[in-house]
Amino acid sequence: MFQISRDHKGLHVTRRADHLMYPHELTTFRHAVDVFGFLVQQNERLTPLDWIERIESTYAASTRRDRTTAAIRAAMIDAPIAADESAPRRLSCACCGAVTRGRQWHNQDTGYGLCSTCADWITARHMQPEELERTYGKRGIHFDLPA
Ligand SMILES: [Zn+2]
Repeated sequence: MFQISRDHKGLHVTRRADHLMYPHELTTFRHAVDVFGFLVQQNERLTPLDWIERIESTYAASTRRDRTTAAIRAAMIDAPIAADESAPRRLSCACCGAVTRGRQWHNQDTGYGLCSTCADWITARHMQPEELERTYGKRGIHFDLPA
């Protein structure tokens, strides 16, 4: 069981490996440790559910709080993501039409994906990571593959 604890040396967190989490969840989780780690007292050892409960009883409900607790769940409780091991293929970007490398995502028409330029553009401007993922799949797996 993953847990978060604090001793005289500081905060200790055990969680699943980076590649078993979505990148945006990993980022949010790291942020959660920085920001909400203070809720763990000296010599305390909390389960992720205890920690989530403490966050929820300290902060009013908000999208941000929900995203934080979802990331904690992803890192410490929920089943890990299943990686798509199929070979990447040539896809057309659904946004700009450019040829790109990726894996087919079920919410895209066959043969269409997202190029990394458009992925960055969309992320920077108007789409939440969760929505991006729902629409185009996972970064690094379905689009924006490492070269
Ligand atoms: Zn594009």
